[in-house]
Amino acid sequence: MQKILNYINGEWLDSPTTEYFEVINPATGEIIARTPLGPASVIEAAARAANEALPGWRRTPVQERVQYLFKLRDLMKANADEIAQAIVNEAGKTFEEAKAEMVRAYENVEVACGMPMLMKGEISEDIAPGIDEIMLRQPVGVCATIAPFNFPGMIPFWYLPYALAAGNTYLVKPSERVPVTMQIIFRLIEQVGFPKGVVNLVNGGKESVDAILEHPVIRAVTFVGSTSVAKYIYSTAAAHGKRVQAQGGAKNPVIILPDADMEMAVKITADSAFGCAGQRCLATSLAITVGEARNEFNEAICDAAASRTVGYGLEAGIQMGAVINQASKTRIEQLIGVGASEGVSIPVDGRGTVIKGYEKGSFVRPTILMDVQPGSETWQTEIFGPVLGVMHVNSIEDAIALTNSHRYGNQASLFTSSGAAARKFRYEAEAGNIGINIGVAAPMAFFPFSGWKESFFGDMHGQGMDAVEFFTQKKVVVERWPKEWSRKF
Ligand code: NAD
Repeated sequence: MQKILNYINGEWLDSPTTEYFEVINPATGEIIARTPLGPASVIEAAARAANEALPGWRRTPVQERVQYLFKLRDLMKANADEIAQAIVNEAGKTFEEAKAEMVRAYENVEVACGMPMLMKGEISEDIAPGIDEIMLRQPVGVCATIAPFNFPGMIPFWYLPYALAAGNTYLVKPSERVPVTMQIIFRLIEQVGFPKGVVNLVNGGKESVDAILEHPVIRAVTFVGSTSVAKYIYSTAAAHGKRVQAQGGAKNPVIILPDADMEMAVKITADSAFGCAGQRCLATSLAITVGEARNEFNEAICDAAASRTVGYGLEAGIQMGAVINQASKTRIEQLIGVGASEGVSIPVDGRGTVIKGYEKGSFVRPTILMDVQPGSETWQTEIFGPVLGVMHVNSIEDAIALTNSHRYGNQASLFTSSGAAARKFRYEAEAGNIGINIGVAAPMAFFPFSGWKESFFGDMHGQGMDAVEFFTQKKVVVERWPKEWSRKF
């Protein structure tokens, strides 16, 4: 069994706790690790180390700071297979999905390596005779990320490389459900040789999160997870005077117009709904057919769902892995049951899935809930599993109105061959990420990543220039140098 340690001030340390969370391989049901849950003294030690490291790291020239990130990027790339294997074994994904996750992780490191350019200040000379105005970007201080289970390798990298490159010091708290991936990544961080205390790993659950939110030295917090926790993080961190961004849950629709390339729309919708077993914040969970698109789409999406190969993600040919644990499987199956009681038909039903050889795994096969009704529980609730609700409307206006009536706004997609329809949708849809003939509109590392409405609480987003904004604070300097003084020289 893998031992889960914290990495604080350049040292691997055990947690002084008797409380643990059992980490189970979702495909095999084996216990693979035990995550120490707290105590708060771990956060205290990490925050202190990060605070002590701050002046030295801040004074390290930015072009030197990014040299550490260049090394980290190379190590992440060279060790991508080992990291991906850990992701499969703790998060239940397929190997290809886990590899793809790591690509986006190191792409963020690559973008952050541009920090000498990205955090450069501005100057206006002679705003009045002999007076110049300068805008500097300085680091915020000690920052922390609280991460969810579904992308154990990638999500901390929406933030960490930008924070470090900008001169902040850092704490990462992974989800207690998937602590192993960060153990491997922090071995690489150790190999890079960052100065002690610059980047720290802290494992734990709610007690650790609360200690981060309340710690006076931690100046900025990023969170990714469910909406209920995101709201809590946002309000608690703000009450403690911190800069905060909190990404929440989602219920992402795709709209299929009658003029769509139907083969493409079905394939991409199925990949979006069932990839990563539906446990992606950008997974499609509702398909809304418009007019004549209905019959052809409904038949084909059922075939696509039923033909997906489900199993252990390290085996060849597997298209979909397990959901995170038995509790999640039970919750997903209960929500499918709620759909049945609400009167939807279930032409493809993934409940009760057992995979031969992996009988203890938490598998749910792809499921289609046909004719979900607006306002029903299956329409409102994020199921976070391989379950696609299908709905029908008569016009693009109705489809956009339905999309915009949802409390979430993470992503919305449209399948069409009409430029005018695409433009209307792009203009009117209320979501932070829009796909046009795309099922997972995941922004590249140099674009901001975030949702709208109840999918996001905050202002600046993750990745790219937004992350630079989040992890720097602007200082404006107005300087007077009278002309007559320069005559002395
Ligand atoms: P979660 O909210 O259960 O946990 C996220 C983190 O919060 C973990 O580190 C956990 O230790 C901590 N936490 C959990 N309960 C807490 C509490 N009561 N108080 C304080 N901290 C607490 O989320 P999850 O199940 O790990 O992740 C899945 C969710 O994340 C889904 O809702 C998904 O949509 C969302 N997500 C959103 C995005 C996005 O970009 N919007 C990306 C990935 C995942």
